Amino acid sequence: MSTCLSRCTVMALALAMWLVGFPVTAQERPDGRAPKTGLAHVFDRQLQRFQSGQFDSLDAANLQQELDQLRASLPTGDTLRELDFRAVQCAHTLRQDPVAALKVVEQALLRARRVDAAEIQVRLLLCAGLARGISQTPADALTDFDQAISLARAAGLQAALGDSLAQRGSLHSLQGEQAHALLDFLAAQNHYRIAGKNALAEANLINIATVYRRMGEYAKAGEYLRQTREAALRGGKWTELFTALMQLGFLHDDTHQPQQAEQTFTQALEIASERTGMRQDQGFARIGLATAMINQQRYREGLVVLDQAVADLTSIDDTSSAGDLQLLRGIAVAGMGNHYRALEHYGQALAELQRSGNQRYLARLYRARADSHEALGNDAGALADYKQYTALRETLTENMRSEQTAVLRQQFDASRRDMENRRLLADQQAREQQLQALMRMRHWQWVAIGLAGLLLAVLGALAARQLGRLRRLRVLAMTDPLTGVANRRRVERMGNEAIAHARERSRALCVLSLDVDHFKKVNDGFGHAVGDEVLVRVAKTCASALRQFDLLGRVGGEEFLVVLPDTRLEQAVEVAERLRQGVESLRFQEPATELRASISLGLTALRDEDHDLAALAQRADVALYRAKAGGRNRTEVEP
Ligand code: GH3
Ligand code: MG
Ligand code: MG
Repeated sequence: MSTCLSRCTVMALALAMWLVGFPVTAQERPDGRAPKTGLAHVFDRQLQRFQSGQFDSLDAANLQQELDQLRASLPTGDTLRELDFRAVQCAHTLRQDPVAALKVVEQALLRARRVDAAEIQVRLLLCAGLARGISQTPADALTDFDQAISLARAAGLQAALGDSLAQRGSLHSLQGEQAHALLDFLAAQNHYRIAGKNALAEANLINIATVYRRMGEYAKAGEYLRQTREAALRGGKWTELFTALMQLGFLHDDTHQPQQAEQTFTQALEIASERTGMRQDQGFARIGLATAMINQQRYREGLVVLDQAVADLTSIDDTSSAGDLQLLRGIAVAGMGNHYRALEHYGQALAELQRSGNQRYLARLYRARADSHEALGNDAGALADYKQYTALRETLTENMRSEQTAVLRQQFDASRRDMENRRLLADQQAREQQLQALMRMRHWQWVAIGLAGLLLAVLGALAARQLGRLRRLRVLAMTDPLTGVANRRRVERMGNEAIAHARERSRALCVLSLDVDHFKKVNDGFGHAVGDEVLVRVAKTCASALRQFDLLGRVGGEEFLVVLPDTRLEQAVEVAERLRQGVESLRFQEPATELRASISLGLTALRDEDHDLAALAQRADVALYRAKAGGRNRTEVEP
């Protein structure tokens, strides 16, 4: 669990990455720098130590000493080295005093522009962006990152371009624009590879994984994270290993695996204590660990670890996790039965989380507070919070969905099909969740009606509206959102009823399985939107060619199932042909006027030994497979 947590660890990694990102080694200094004096050598050596991350774990006082030493070895009148110094100074004062860092970097930028030093300008712009992101709002960093990107691109600086894109990607991801973020990170990956910066490319995988996690693409995120964890472990790269472990921990948390989360955060804590030595990292790892304990109902232990985390973070004046901490405390004390105390913590968490605008955590908060209100018998309060919770959940699910759709549009993902199918499933789950939420809300409404006779009329009206919604949602939960025909669940349920009915009365029944031919080519050739339109038109064509009591449902990406009650095989063959010809004669508008759609169909009839739809569907699929193998756009029968 984390708001700042996941953000800050990724930010910290991003920072470390661009610091070591495109270090100019002493040998390969570009022209234009003053001839090397003894002092310049000293300066370059010290600069390298900074750029290789050697000083990353120093405390403020020691870091200042190293910075002073760098400044002292700066040859007078050497503008480029002085700008190098400013970039390092900015990067290392960034977290303590972003406003001062910004001032330093803005002056340096003016000078860098005058001497036309592209690479150093890029570095300064990135630091300016980070400083602005911290001292103002993240969105204020965007202009700097955009500028850094165009500059690096124009100057052909591959590694710098990678860094700039990675920074902008982190920003997009923080703002919830995961599709944009993914594009930036993938582009960064490309430029790192071209520049031969394999270590950076590997570290960038964590960014990609984080985006996938925030989009709900958990399996993918896990794959990337495990890959980076192994690589970081092999190379002894502790900052990366720590970040990968933290992200894996969040992933386990998101997928409700608290035991694995606990293990992973414990490992992260070990790395932070024994390797990176950063107090902030230790604090974050402890918050993760406490979350995992609390999720396993080990409240007392969780609270102890939380106290340790607070000690870590206060020691470096980091207040960015205040909201998370209060929320966690609330959940822990509520778990121990102290709902009054929990409400106090929730109140403080609410203020913090509203300020940081973190909707996922706000949703968790409302949900938890509704439970405490309910436990204290405050049904009205519980209802109000639960409503906020469901509203937020709807927004969040919708956002996740639209980000996934945006990614699909980019067509860069090899396993698009997987994602589409999961999206269909997620849609359905979201609707079911809404349904359950409404049921719970109804429960509270009835309690309230019983308790407060005065409110009866008002609540009655409310309940009626809710019931209406409930009914609509029930229908929606059974409908395919794209084509409006029944979804798999509905076909299965109604199909099985039709089969039972036919068996009782010894009536005929047929089942048709149909699949759009070469649909991948439609998507690839005309785009996803046209693909969707084909699905809608195919569904419409079939629906209008069927009788009212025939049943049509979408059971997969471009697969449909038809149940034909009271229909013998000969008649069903005619129906199938009608559907096939209907689809064949479909015509589409620009830009798909050339497109010809067709379907293949597999047909089967009910036998005595068939007990459910699955048996018939399986046989119909065998026939369908034959139709595909035989050249498509045809019907095959498996009697
Ligand atoms: P075949 O003739 O053998 O059936 O070939 P095909 O290309 O139709 O079959 P395949 O199963 O390989 O591809 C199905 C494609 O359908 C892949 C997937 O991207 C796409 N798809 C699945 N769901 C949707 C959707 O909701 N909209 C769009 N536009 N495409 C989808
Ligand atoms: Mg198919
Ligand atoms: Mg197909």
